Amino acid sequence: MQSTIVTKAEKAHRYAQEPDRLRISGIEATFEAGGGQHVLRLGETGWTCDCEFAMQHHVCPHIEAASRLLDKHLAESAKPRVVDLLAGS
Ligand SMILES: [Zn+2]
Repeated sequence: MQSTIVTKAEKAHRYAQEPDRLRISGIEATFEAGGGQHVLRLGETGWTCDCEFAMQHHVCPHIEAASRLLDKHLAESAKPRVVDLLAGS
């Protein structure tokens, strides 16, 4: 049993060095912004944030910052950028 635990612990350390193994498809988090906290969620339909800007534009600085922090673990479709709003205006 002890050798199994050691093997599993070694595997965990090795996996932790390989960020491509982890793909995040859902998350709920709070974001500490200058004016207070915002609640972020990532689900099947993408990101949401409870700030006014995100409710109007479906992206905001909080969503973009979170997606940049988690970049290696997100699908490309879960990486919205505020600057992309310029293309749609
Ligand atoms: Zn926001």
